[in-house]
This record gives sequence, structure tokens and C-alpha cells, in this order.
Amino acid sequence: MRIYNTLSRRKEVFVPQDPDEVKIYSCGPTVYSFAHIGNMRTYVFMDSLRRVLRHEGYKLKHVMNVTDVGHLTSDADDGEDKMEKAARKAQKSPYEIAAFYAAAFFKDLERLNIDRPEIIAKATDHIDGMIDYVVQLCEKGYGYETSDGIYFDIAKFPGYGKLSRARLDEQLAGGSERVAVNDEKHNPADFALWKKAPKEHIMQWPSPWGMGYPGWHIECSEMSREYLGDLLDIHTGGVDHIPIHHENEIAQSEALIGKKTVNYWMHGEFLLVDGGKMSKSLGNTYTVDTLIERGYSPLAFRYFCLNGHYRNKLNFTWEGLNGAQISLTRLYDTLLAHKNAPDAEITDTVPGEGRYSGMNVLDAWKKEFGYAITDDLNIPLALSVVWKALRYKTLNRKIYEFVVSCDDILGLDLEAGTEKAAEKREQERIEEQKAQNSDIPEEILALSDERMKAKKEKRYADADALRAEIARLGFKVTDTKDGPVITKELE
Ligand code: AMP
Ligand code: ZN
Repeated sequence: MRIYNTLSRRKEVFVPQDPDEVKIYSCGPTVYSFAHIGNMRTYVFMDSLRRVLRHEGYKLKHVMNVTDVGHLTSDADDGEDKMEKAARKAQKSPYEIAAFYAAAFFKDLERLNIDRPEIIAKATDHIDGMIDYVVQLCEKGYGYETSDGIYFDIAKFPGYGKLSRARLDEQLAGGSERVAVNDEKHNPADFALWKKAPKEHIMQWPSPWGMGYPGWHIECSEMSREYLGDLLDIHTGGVDHIPIHHENEIAQSEALIGKKTVNYWMHGEFLLVDGGKMSKSLGNTYTVDTLIERGYSPLAFRYFCLNGHYRNKLNFTWEGLNGAQISLTRLYDTLLAHKNAPDAEITDTVPGEGRYSGMNVLDAWKKEFGYAITDDLNIPLALSVVWKALRYKTLNRKIYEFVVSCDDILGLDLEAGTEKAAEKREQERIEEQKAQNSDIPEEILALSDERMKAKKEKRYADADALRAEIARLGFKVTDTKDGPVITKELE
């Protein structure tokens, strides 16, 4: 399996430390409001990674954090604590706010068939560990105290900027807007490990530096180490985390542990809406609920996401989502047709000169699907293989079985979706027949009612005679679970 490593800017062969179990850490949500569909795209990517690794036979030890403290309104240590701001506005405690939005987040994961990581770690459950981490960084000379907190001294960490390949001299010049201005900092890009809390700050804990709360970045360094040890196989997040959050995580973790702490960094590209950023002022920070309110199924959004490679930007539009919903319905319908078809041997081979030429087509589809998913999670290519199989010249039960097996990776409820498609078909057939019954003469309907009565009273001979009489008059009765349906016998 090959995956793209943001650190090396290359696709690399994936080799976990332990051949059986992969250690993954994913930056999770800050639970101060509903997650938007952009956030959810990043978790669909995380889920594809999980599914592919499991398909490759690995067990997973996967940690995702839930940030319920310390993420300021700007990533660069500026502004208010997001949790506190939301709590004040809603006149609730930050803990109530966090519990409410965390529950909503996990419900969204479920609705999108996103597997829940094995370990969910809440920042507020790990404050002691974070304090200890900051103490150790200070002892090693990486942290220093100012009047409002403890800061990481990036000049002491020569590797600073290696993930984003930002130049340290640029960081030090502080020309960028993404660093908080603070005269006491040694360098403008130094970031907070711990913040001293003003009295009105609701969430605060005792520390060697008085009452305070942790910086946002320290939570991921501490919790990933606590659950997964000094070296992770894979660390994931959205691309916005590359220049600040993950750069800072690397600085903290490598400073403390003294060596590399992540083997593969993977980042999901952004979801745009109508070609631009989502923003509250534009009213386009859509959530999974918004999609449902507008009549779309969450899985149509999942399908929409799977159609774009995780390292490419994806532009969300309502027309695009509508197209995804139509395609998904067509996928279920076509799959149903293959399900009901004969289970015949497929003997065709792939023509031409390509990689799979000469191979049995069914084997080739399987190979191509496997190749796609292990080539840096090329799910769009894998989906196109599924469509290639579905569009095969004849309907075949073997195609149904192949495509359903792909659902381990796709997570589109293919079996259940197909069953629903079948129920819908049956319903349509009954409706059609009911509509036909409305043209049936009264006399025939009366005979049919009499036949039903006879059947109910177990007078089967009478019932058969009545059926024969109806047939003699040119009509046919079919018993369905919704009652008898009468059709005119064609000549
Ligand atoms: P947050 O709760 O703000 O920390 O974001 C949760 C996750 O969503 C992070 O991994 C972000 O990188 C990611 N994210 C934020 N906005 C978008 C977006 N528009 N598209 C894709 N991922 C996003
Ligand atoms: Zn993180």
C-alpha cells in the first residue's frame, strides 16, 4: 500500500512499525458548534483510510481527540477560547456545550457511515498529563514563562517549519498575520503551551504557573503519546492544520521525545462551497442536518465525497449533491438488477494491451479495485471500477456479489440500499396494479370479493370455482400481500 506523506511530499510504501497493528492519531473536532460538511469531508477521508487499512488485514489502534478546551478563536493563540465563547452565548457551562456538540458530532459520523475510532480522548480528561508535558518541555529549555502563559521557543527547535516547509526566518520576522502579537514573546511565532486564566475564564486548573488552561496544540502531543507511545504510524487532519497546529505538534513532541514521532502525515484537502470558503456571513456553513432538511440522504453526501480524491479540493454545490443522490439511487437499482440475475460464469477477458489485458474481466475488476484503494486511497478510481462492472453487457449475480464486497471500503450501505430499491419496485408494481383494478367492472370485483370470502371461510372449492368464473369472463386474479389484484387477460 502506498500513501502520500505530507512531510516528504511523496507517495511512500506504507510500512507500519508493528506488522499487525497500525497506530493512528486523527485531530478531532472542537465541540463548540455543529460540525459543518467541510469537517465531515475530512472524517470521510479518515474513514476511507481506516477501511483500506482493515481491508489490508491490519488491526487498528486509532485515537481521535475531542477538543473541549483551549482552542482559541484564532489558531495563533489569539482571541477567546471557542468553548467559553459558545458557553457564554448559550448561557450554559462549557461542559454542557461540549457534551451537546460532541453527541451531535458522533451522530453525524454514524449517519455518514464513518467508523468511530477505537479511542476517543477528551482534552479535559488529560489536563494533568498536559501540565506534566509542559513542565518537561520547560525543564529541557524549550518553554518559557510570560505574564500570560508558557510559550514554546521555536528558535530552540531547528526543525520548525519542516512540515509546511515554511522558512524559519519568515516565521521569526513575524510578518505573517497568523501569529499573535505579544511583546514578551522571544519570537512572534512562539506559541502557547499553557495559558494563565483571567478570573472570568470558566475552565481553569491549578498548575505550577497558577490557575490556567492548556494551549490547543499540546493536547494532541500529550494524548497521542499517552495512548500510542512515542512513535505513531499515521497522523491525519485537514490541510489547514499543516502550517500551525501540526508544525507546533511536531515541535513539542520532537523536543520532548528527542526524535521523530510520526512516520506518515496525511492531510485531507478542503471542501469548498460554490467555489469559495464556507462562512457564517455567507450562510453556507451547511451541516448534515441541512442536507437532510433539504431532502438529501447523508449517504448521498458520502458518495459525493468519495467521488473526489482526498488530496484534491472538492467543490460542493447543491446540483453536485443532487447528481450524487441520483447516481447513488441508480447504483442501488442497477445492483438490484444484477442481484436478481442468473449466477452464470463470466468468461470474457480484458482486451487490448493494458495492465489487465487477457485477464478474466471479473478478476481484473477485483485487481483494479484493490490497486486503486491501495494507491494512496484512490477511491474515485475504485468507484469507477464498480461502475464498469455494473455496466457489464449482461446482468449477472456475480457482479452483485463483487460490488457488495466493495462496500467494506465504500460504506454506502449497498446491500440495504438494494433491498430498499427492491421494496420500492414492489410497491410501484402494486400501485400500478391497483390503478388497473380501478378499470375492472363491478361484476368482476363482486366475484373477487365473494372469492375472498370463500377463501377466508376455507371453502376452497367455491373459491376455485369463482376464480374459474372470473377467468371465463376474461380476467385474472393474482393474490398479493396487499390483497387480490385483478388484471384483464390479454388475448
Ligand atoms: P476543527 O473542529 O475546526 O478543528 O476542524 C475539524 C477538522 O475539519 C480538522 O481536521 C480540519 O482540518 C477540518 N476542516 C475544517 N474545515 C474544513 C473544510 N472546509 N474542508 C475540509 N476539512 C475541513
Ligand atoms: Zn491535533
